Amino acid sequence: MDVIEYVVVHELAHIKEHNHENTFWELVEKYIPNYKILEL
Ligand SMILES: [Zn+2]
Repeated sequence: MDVIEYVVVHELAHIKEHNHENTFWELVEKYIPNYKILEL
């Protein structure tokens, strides 16, 4: 797991959710369960 992967998932998640609300982060968490420890 690296930062590039996080950025890609982040952008893909924005295709479905055009915001940073809970539903967006749940989507990110589905693909990267440990995204919170990346501290971006
Ligand atoms: Zn974003």
